[in-house]
Amino acid sequence: MDARVVGAGVVGLSCAIRLQEAGARVRVRALARTPGTTSDVAAAYYYPSRMAADPRILRWGRGTLRELARLAEDPATGVRAAKAIHLARPGAERPWWADAMPGFRAARRDELPAGQEAGWVVDTFVAEMPVYLRALEARFERAGGAFEAGRVADVRALARQAQGVVVNATGLGARECAGDASTYPIRGQVARVENPGLLDVVSDPDGPLAVAYVVPRSRDVVLGGTAQEGDWSLAPDPKTEEDILRKCALLEPRLAGARVTGRAVGLRPGRPAVRLERDADAPNLVHCYGHGGSGMTLSWGCADEVAALARQV
Ligand SMILES: Cc1cc2nc3c(=O)[nH]c(=O)nc-3n(C[C@H](O)[C@H](O)[C@H](O)COP(=O)(O)OP(=O)(O)OC[C@H]3O[C@@H](n4cnc5c(N)ncnc54)[C@H](O)[C@@H]3O)c2cc1C
Repeated sequence: MDARVVGAGVVGLSCAIRLQEAGARVRVRALARTPGTTSDVAAAYYYPSRMAADPRILRWGRGTLRELARLAEDPATGVRAAKAIHLARPGAERPWWADAMPGFRAARRDELPAGQEAGWVVDTFVAEMPVYLRALEARFERAGGAFEAGRVADVRALARQAQGVVVNATGLGARECAGDASTYPIRGQVARVENPGLLDVVSDPDGPLAVAYVVPRSRDVVLGGTAQEGDWSLAPDPKTEEDILRKCALLEPRLAGARVTGRAVGLRPGRPAVRLERDADAPNLVHCYGHGGSGMTLSWGCADEVAALARQV
């Protein structure tokens, strides 16, 4: 089987690897590769952020967890196991995503940031994205995969000319190359600061400090963030950064005064729901995009399903 994957973010690379494992000869075509993709900007911890309750999300999340657990055994992959605390409203019901979260439990008072009353503790994984994406690229190339640089103007036209299966993993790019006007940007700004020795992820997904998160990595800590729907600006905003630093120091006081070493903005591929299906007009075309704030979280589970759909082509 010949396969072409359009897109070299976390979704495209995971799909490309699963297609190889299914026996396909795979080429990846992309406008940008690491470190120039949206995936590179992601924090990135395992958590179904800004996703509606949907049984597919739980299935895809569990599929990703299985692979992340394997990857975390080798530090060179950029993936590590971590503990995460997600703040919650006092008395909040068990969230729908809890079933795809190992170690899920209510946080003890002494585990919470000062002034916070409730939260959930989970076992999670952090992927240091530029390291992780490079490791995925290397794994793909070692298995005989090849990259091509360039834009695909129309994925359906590409699929009609192609011999084998074509996977559309273009994220926000699907708005243009698949003509999907329901895909929109969710702007995320982050600051990177020196790591004062932190290991745990702390986040306030929808409370008074939302959207704030602290994600320690090997050399720095990623501090977020924003989730600005429909905003296409890629320029970091200084006022927003001040706000991010202030909120994150409330989540983790050891961050107060931490030196900023970098800043970035990424446009998450928003969509009312992830699109993972064969195209009605081009049956050898499989779409896999629109992962919003959860592309890393859902990547391997989606890639498993893309490989299964590709086998039907
Ligand atoms: C600040 C921030 C924090 C985040 N934190 C997390 C987190 O903690 N956990 C998590 O799971 N997710 C997180 N995300 C979300 C995650 O980054 C995205 O869901 C994910 O990157 C989407 O991956 P993708 O491969 O679909 O898209 P992308 O990474 O955007 O890759 C798309 C690829 O398609 C290519 N492409 C696009 N159009 C074309 C075209 N026409 N022709 C050829 N190539 C094309 C691009 O060049 C690129 O290679 C975060 C995002 C941001 C911005």
